[in-house]
Amino acid sequence: MSDVFQFLNVARRDGAKTPADIRKTGFHEIYAQMDAEHAHEQAGRCLACGNPYCEWKCPVHNFIPNWLKLVDEGRLFEAAELSHQTNSLPEVCGRVCPQDRLCEGSCTLNQVKAGAVTIGQIERYISETAFAQGWRPDMSKVVATGKKVAIIGAGPAGLGCADVLARNGVKAVVFDRYPEIGGLLTFGIPEFKMEKHVMTRRREVFEGMGIEFRLNTEVGGTKPQDVQMADLLNEYDAVFLGMGTYTFMQAGIPGEDLPGVMPALPFLISNVNHCLGLPQDEFIDMQGLRVVVLGGGDTAMDCNRTSIRQGAASVTCAYRRDEANMPGSKREVANAKEEGVQFLWNRQPVAIVGEAQVEGIKLVTTQLGEPDARGRRSPVIVEGSEEIVPCDRVLIAFGFRPNPQPWFADFGITTDAAGRVIAKGQTHACQTANPKVFAGGDMVRGSDLVVTAVYEGREAAKGMLDFFAV
Ligand code: FAD
Ligand code: SF4
Repeated sequence: MSDVFQFLNVARRDGAKTPADIRKTGFHEIYAQMDAEHAHEQAGRCLACGNPYCEWKCPVHNFIPNWLKLVDEGRLFEAAELSHQTNSLPEVCGRVCPQDRLCEGSCTLNQVKAGAVTIGQIERYISETAFAQGWRPDMSKVVATGKKVAIIGAGPAGLGCADVLARNGVKAVVFDRYPEIGGLLTFGIPEFKMEKHVMTRRREVFEGMGIEFRLNTEVGGTKPQDVQMADLLNEYDAVFLGMGTYTFMQAGIPGEDLPGVMPALPFLISNVNHCLGLPQDEFIDMQGLRVVVLGGGDTAMDCNRTSIRQGAASVTCAYRRDEANMPGSKREVANAKEEGVQFLWNRQPVAIVGEAQVEGIKLVTTQLGEPDARGRRSPVIVEGSEEIVPCDRVLIAFGFRPNPQPWFADFGITTDAAGRVIAKGQTHACQTANPKVFAGGDMVRGSDLVVTAVYEGREAAKGMLDFFAV
């Protein structure tokens, strides 16, 4: 066991990162997995604070110091069991959470400038190594309740819900219109952040726990294999909605309809389909093209780095605030810079120019003005600062708005003015206005994070367990 002041002698040491010139030629994860010695060394840096801020800041409230101690002591299977008590997808969150503004951003070691404990990478190490050594969730004490729940959406919210239900003896049947589970984790987030075999294995783990997946099945769809909400409500004791948010935000500027201008997600999904060899009408390829990406979040970074890997002639990312105020993960911005993305901070698009096809983008310079209602300083345009950046493609990554389904009203499911499902829990956590229907994740919060979607799915499952107990 390590001494509590190990951090004084042992510096933070991240997992090895593939050099930029190699990693930008392919779609592979860029961080190597820690080995046992490395994980032990880094886990031992934890101070075991009495009041662990990391745990509070982690949206699923992982028992971080406790599983770090188990890793330090080499008790891997116990660490895996403990980490799964609070998180349904720890190997995923260890990879894709913006740790710099969550758990690691709150690590006490930051206050003494010692470098936070590498919490995310150790979380990934625990599950990866335990799975490789044959560990699987212990379901031996689960007693079947006879209840069954239909879950719409196999994204992080739906999976979090299914996990908690299965561990409490409730049959979870998950419906998704896509051919694989994961939601945006599979059909959105590129493989350089998380390779797709991670979700394939997770599906096998969940199936081993008794969770059933009905893929290629849309709820409310018209294909022969599709199902209808009314039938789910008749056949199941409750229904969980974890359907995400899929209306692309538009730029609202002239020229947006020109050929060569496209929303971010279809581009990213096309690349995933291409990498996985799945059928698609058209592969969207940026090879040899000058690409401009508009936006400053995770989706924009994924577009930047995917375009680089496809062999774009140049990739420029324009964002209307400064670097310090970008909403995306700082780690991903740094990775994008290393891979050759050019950033134009404080630039706002005002028009997309071209005759038959996009030829350039007109930008104006901004300065940060007064804080808005949410406390973020609003960009103010600098007069006479117009410039045109020549380009062949423009990718719009301004985020997503909810896409409430036309059938919601038929079942008493209500939404707010922005189209988000209201699931404030009239009696039980995450319950909608229809007592048999629960909801969580992006469709309730608006676009957010994998870990917050997992949390809400898990909370909804607890709400259902209360509901069944009534
Ligand atoms: P989703 O992941 O969207 O899953 C919803 C599922 O519901 C989908 O599989 C969909 O097919 C299914 N569905 C919808 N309607 C139906 C229907 N009628 N019938 C059947 N199935 C249906 N977050 C991070 O934490 N880190 C990141 O690095 C990160 N990067 C991102 C990059 C991109 C490009 C994007 C778009 C998002 C990123 N996010 C990231 C955000 C994160 O992916 C989402 O917040 C999270 O996936 C939301 O989970 P969810 O389960 O609510 O929805
Ligand atoms: Fe950190 Fe995310 Fe893991 Fe929580 S789930 S400990 S925030 S990496």
